[in-house]
Amino acid sequence: MPPALRRPAPPAMEEAPALDRLRSLLPAIAARAAALDVDGAFPGEDIAALATEGLLRTPLPEAEGGQGWGTAPAGAAPLCAALRLVGRASLPLGRIFEGHVNAAKLVLRRGNAAQAEAAARDLRAGRLFGVWNTDPPGGGPPLTLENGVLKGRKVLCSGAGWVERALVTARDAGAPADAPTRMALVPLERHARADLSGWTAQGMRASATGAVDFTGLRVGPGELVGQPGDYLAQPDFSAGAWRFAAVHCGGVEAVLGALRDHLRRTGRGADPHQAARLGQAAMAAETARLWVEAAAAKAEAPGAGVEAVAHVGLARLAVERAALDVLELAQRSVGLQAFMRPSPLERLVRDLATYLRQPAPDRVLSEAAAFVLSAPQEPGDLWG
Ligand SMILES: Cc1cc2nc3c(=O)[nH]c(=O)nc-3n(C[C@H](O)[C@H](O)[C@H](O)COP(=O)(O)OP(=O)(O)OC[C@H]3O[C@@H](n4cnc5c(N)ncnc54)[C@H](O)[C@@H]3O)c2cc1C
Repeated sequence: MPPALRRPAPPAMEEAPALDRLRSLLPAIAARAAALDVDGAFPGEDIAALATEGLLRTPLPEAEGGQGWGTAPAGAAPLCAALRLVGRASLPLGRIFEGHVNAAKLVLRRGNAAQAEAAARDLRAGRLFGVWNTDPPGGGPPLTLENGVLKGRKVLCSGAGWVERALVTARDAGAPADAPTRMALVPLERHARADLSGWTAQGMRASATGAVDFTGLRVGPGELVGQPGDYLAQPDFSAGAWRFAAVHCGGVEAVLGALRDHLRRTGRGADPHQAARLGQAAMAAETARLWVEAAAAKAEAPGAGVEAVAHVGLARLAVERAALDVLELAQRSVGLQAFMRPSPLERLVRDLATYLRQPAPDRVLSEAAAFVLSAPQEPGDLWG
């Protein structure tokens, strides 16, 4: 048989690309999201599906069974798409997946060879990682480390009670408040030490964002990751904000989709006012996507520096602006039904409005503006 007529080898033995495997899970994830919108919920079935499809190990290099998502420049674009797609199906799951990738990245980048190997084993085994940095509010005692023992709590820990490898920041006991923190990768039993009772936010109920008490846990040198101050090391710390902006972007697309569904269902889409609002919402969603894709590429490029930090800061705020605009447009277009359960829009709006609250937006804008002010280039050439 001439070669051109021979059938290619059946692709059955080859694994489908990671993004395709993710896409195949999304309808079920989106369908489950409504039922999970209750206090104390967690998308355990979704995380298990991501693990089964090998998506929790994607931060590993290809040679170790991963895709370099978040850890190699080539992984920036597919990770950006993945975060957007997961966020579109479920913002709580997007939050958990983003934290998982962030933790894996920090350990793989800052940890020693033994820690990276252990993390690779855990990622291949489908264990869930998370980054928990937030200390109790009101000047309460931060998490401290004294003679190898942790004392205190972290708050706003997404996946509390579910994350099995928590990357936490802790101060040496007695160190001044501005002393650099250490990172520790703490193994945790499921359902241990977590308190979800304080998570009364209007949205993101299924993110299991709670307090975790670490008091009495031993942390040996093998669990301490990197050097003091590494958690806040730039540009990774600030430029990493592109990842949550990508999840937010997915949330914006979900709201836009729900708005379009409503207009189709009600036959109101041809009304000029409704059409104008749908067009404006589509513009805002696309603006968000373009910003975040550019920010992902800049943040993950070799040699990323202050320019990437400024660009990601602007991208994060541009996505926030787009999201707030789309929320308003959708609520005005749909009207009261957008506020009534079980309208999908009601939940999507609450989740997005809640998750949009991220640290220090004013400072981020001021710092990006200061970069633009002092840059030698023409502003129009800054990001080329
Ligand atoms: C769904 C969800 C899940 C989360 N999961 C995690 C997690 O897993 N791990 C984790 O570590 N954290 C987590 N967080 C916490 C998150 O990282 C931020 O700490 C939190 O969202 C900060 O929000 P905020 O609006 O209170 O920020 P703030 O920074 O307090 O901002 C509130 C407002 O105050 C302004 N502001 C800030 N500082 C000052 C100042 N010094 N003076 C005057 N104005 C100021 C800001 O510009 C803004 O206008 C989560 C948050 C959410 C919403």
